[in-house]
Amino acid sequence: MKKDILRETLLNIYMENINNPKRFRKEMCRIIRQARETGDFRLLGMAYYYMAFSYYQSGERDIVLPYIIKSVTLLEHTNDYKAVITACNLCGAAYLSQENYQLALSSYSRAYRIAKRHRNRTYESYSMNNLADCYEKLGDYDTTIKLLRQCMELDKRTSNAPYSDLTSSLPYMNLADCYEKLGDYDKALECLETVADRIENAEPKMWLQLYYEIRASVLYSKGDLENAGIYLDKSLSFDESAGDNYINYEMFEKLLHRLIEIKDFERAEKTLEKLTLFADRCDHLMNNIIRYRAQAAYLMSQNDREGALSASLKLNELYDRRIKDIRNMQLSVHKKHMEAENEIIKLNNKLHENEKAASRDPLSKLLNRAALLKEATAFFEIAASKKEKIGAVFIDIDYFKQCNDTYGHAKGDEIIREVARACLKEETASVKFARYGGDEFFGIIHGFSDEKVIDTARRICERIRKADIPNIENPNGHRVTLSVGLVNVAIGERSDTIIDIANYADKALYCSKDKGKNRICFFDYDHFDEKGKRDPYIMIDF
Ligand code: GH3
Ligand code: MG
Repeated sequence: MKKDILRETLLNIYMENINNPKRFRKEMCRIIRQARETGDFRLLGMAYYYMAFSYYQSGERDIVLPYIIKSVTLLEHTNDYKAVITACNLCGAAYLSQENYQLALSSYSRAYRIAKRHRNRTYESYSMNNLADCYEKLGDYDTTIKLLRQCMELDKRTSNAPYSDLTSSLPYMNLADCYEKLGDYDKALECLETVADRIENAEPKMWLQLYYEIRASVLYSKGDLENAGIYLDKSLSFDESAGDNYINYEMFEKLLHRLIEIKDFERAEKTLEKLTLFADRCDHLMNNIIRYRAQAAYLMSQNDREGALSASLKLNELYDRRIKDIRNMQLSVHKKHMEAENEIIKLNNKLHENEKAASRDPLSKLLNRAALLKEATAFFEIAASKKEKIGAVFIDIDYFKQCNDTYGHAKGDEIIREVARACLKEETASVKFARYGGDEFFGIIHGFSDEKVIDTARRICERIRKADIPNIENPNGHRVTLSVGLVNVAIGERSDTIIDIANYADKALYCSKDKGKNRICFFDYDHFDEKGKRDPYIMIDF
């Protein structure tokens, strides 16, 4: 299997700092800065993911969303589909923990669709299980059961995947929960029994706690109070584990109501204690809502009307805050989307700039050879299909060595820039120039007549003549002059390649040099002189 270095590196950083989230986030901030600098979408998207994941793990759910939205938006611009699925799933979980079911549903569906398209069963099953959870919360039990059954089928085929003890147990637990709601307690217990051994070994342990809670709940519903109590006690005996156990505590609240109904006040009190501890440890609005809701119900059952009233008043206040939070969250989701889009535009620009810089010669700002070859190949393909001509221009500065010797290297550089500017003025979508090396320049022209190709070379020479740059050692007017070789070939006629065309232009340049420099020579295979002798080298007046 191909190793994914980036994924492994980030995972290693996460594992190294698993007990020190502060240090981990600091490290992620550094990576985020680096990724922004280099315009690396994937690294940035993954660093945002880990940032979100870290906050999700420590229960700071409000902070998760901004990071995960950015992560999803950025990763979508990469071809790392696994990273997109993982991020979409966490995004769904973040929406779900805010009780924003609609957006949770759309995030999970996206993850599921991508996994299905790539035929990745592990990711497909994982996303489908999350999706089912969402439908369950929305009360659509038929869809939930259908999805969970599909999940189980998939899991049977991927039982050697990492964390398979856990991932293959979750659908059964969810299905049991669902059957309980539909009143089919035997089926619910059957589901739980199927995974009893597996879930004991599964990590992290908070899922085992949830398993006991579901089992207790089903047994209470069935009326098997004794066994229900045993499982509830098991789940109550768990230590306060770090991490967001929100789902567990939702379940505890449900159990508390059941305990009040059957007047098991001893266990009810213990359950309430658990909820209070959780809300204290993880001071989140939703957790406090659960706490005061449970408290009000419990105190009512104890005929403590005053206590129940004060818990209810507190609850009202929290609900008001919740409504405001939801509004703010909608606004913030929108803002974060906009921010992520802007970040992508900036990164794209940066990428474009980097690409441009890498394809240009720093001194002359003309394309380099490799970039020109790319352009030439594209020209060539179009010309071949349309039977058009491709022209090539070779330009070399005459007596340039003497320029350097007489006026110094810096002046030599300035002359190179001047010739480059003269070439750049000719650049269009069909004309591209490169610095070929030292004092040599090479241009490629697509779809021009011979006359227009010659005119292009003439204009460049004319610009240099007008620039009137001294070169005392040049016998042709003691000025900087150019020698040029030209060719314009109809593609397809003689099966010439780009290399052949460049060679013709090179030959023509040599001819210019040979005939005394400061000249333009046009290479034409089918040209004959006055005596009828084949002479492909035509000297051009300029
Ligand atoms: P000819 O007329 O036959 O073209 O001769 P020439 O002197 O122009 O050409 P030659 O190939 O003998 O020398 C090219 C010189 O260009 C040699 C090298 O020192 C100089 N050169 C190459 N690259 C650079 C550069 O980036 N800057 C400067 N200033 N000089 C350069
Ligand atoms: Mg030269």
